[in-house]
Amino acid sequence: MAQIRVESLRKSFDQFAAVQGSNFTIDDGAFFAMLGPSGCGKTTTLRMIAGLELPTEGKILLDNEDVTFQRASARDIAFVFQLFALYPHMNVAENIGFPLKCQGMARRDIYQRVQETAKLLRIEHLLSNKTSKLSGGDRQRVALGRAMVRRPKAFLMDEPLGALDAEFRHLMCSELRDLHDRIGATTVYVTHDQLEAMSMADRIAVMNEGRVEQIGLPQEIYDRPASMFVADFIGSPPMNFLRFEAGLRSGDRTISFHDTSIAVPEIREDRASAGMALGVRPEHIRFADAAPVRGEVFGAEYLGTTQIVTVDTAHGRIAARLPSSAPVRIGERVGLEFRSERLALFDVASGLAIRTANEGSANHG
Ligand code: ATP
Repeated sequence: MAQIRVESLRKSFDQFAAVQGSNFTIDDGAFFAMLGPSGCGKTTTLRMIAGLELPTEGKILLDNEDVTFQRASARDIAFVFQLFALYPHMNVAENIGFPLKCQGMARRDIYQRVQETAKLLRIEHLLSNKTSKLSGGDRQRVALGRAMVRRPKAFLMDEPLGALDAEFRHLMCSELRDLHDRIGATTVYVTHDQLEAMSMADRIAVMNEGRVEQIGLPQEIYDRPASMFVADFIGSPPMNFLRFEAGLRSGDRTISFHDTSIAVPEIREDRASAGMALGVRPEHIRFADAAPVRGEVFGAEYLGTTQIVTVDTAHGRIAARLPSSAPVRIGERVGLEFRSERLALFDVASGLAIRTANEGSANHG
């Protein structure tokens, strides 16, 4: 197993900078997700770690060994692609054992390894089946088996569940995480799906336009987003932003919000008056008659235990997550009260979070 470190990693395609100076360390045995919208540089970063793409600048270290210019085949890393091309003329055991056969391993040893791998994946009963007769999930397991059988130092996975329907993807997420817990191999998992990243990863790097915006535990990223991009990308519905203009002083516990004042977590830096955004997650809002922000209920989406209620205010349309039992009438005038200790503040020009008592260890990538 291996620790993976990337230092000042850059990749340009002609004039276009696809990866713009990434720095991070993936601990030995960790499940690390790279999360971001299409085109943000996730796959390019993964391909550089695998040795399939040469960086324009920067270093890649595997267990402190510089492998930046090492060929992919010498890195002992398994790359699992989205589309699993199994060999249709081979049965499951032959598919799984194929990489070992290519290495020239003795038949008896291959048999042993294939048995062990199939046991870990709980597909021993399928070993003599043809792959064309397998269900989608079993095909994924065979493909994983083929990657695992070499016992690589790390697994790199590029949207491996992207082609599956939602219900099956959810099932495979818990299987992948369970498998990771049993074999403990360092895993780098690329996805644009926040739920996949949040549910499986120990740590997440959120990427945007070639840059790592934040690296942290799933909960840190959700609770203390380092930028407006992260706050908006994570969470469904995303964080609400209410714009205002004000200066901030370290030690303040309230902000001047238009013609009123709102309690916030203690501010930990001084800021000259500028465009700011107050960030509030939908679940940290409730209706209260005397609340400072008021508006008219636009709609309500019933979700079982909760409902998403949208309210049109002078600061834009705000989404609140309320218990589904809360009485809501479309068109009704309501006041919105925010849970002050969970509020976030951002500088609109840079998009970055302002340090507050709620910032904790949130870290800019
Ligand atoms: P997706 O999920 O859509 O693959 P991604 O975050 O993985 O997105 P990348 O595939 O890393 O993004 O691509 C990052 C950017 O680099 C994109 O704008 C893409 O068009 C560009 N790019 C990637 N590979 C090449 C290439 N070989 N030549 C030119 N541009 C490329």
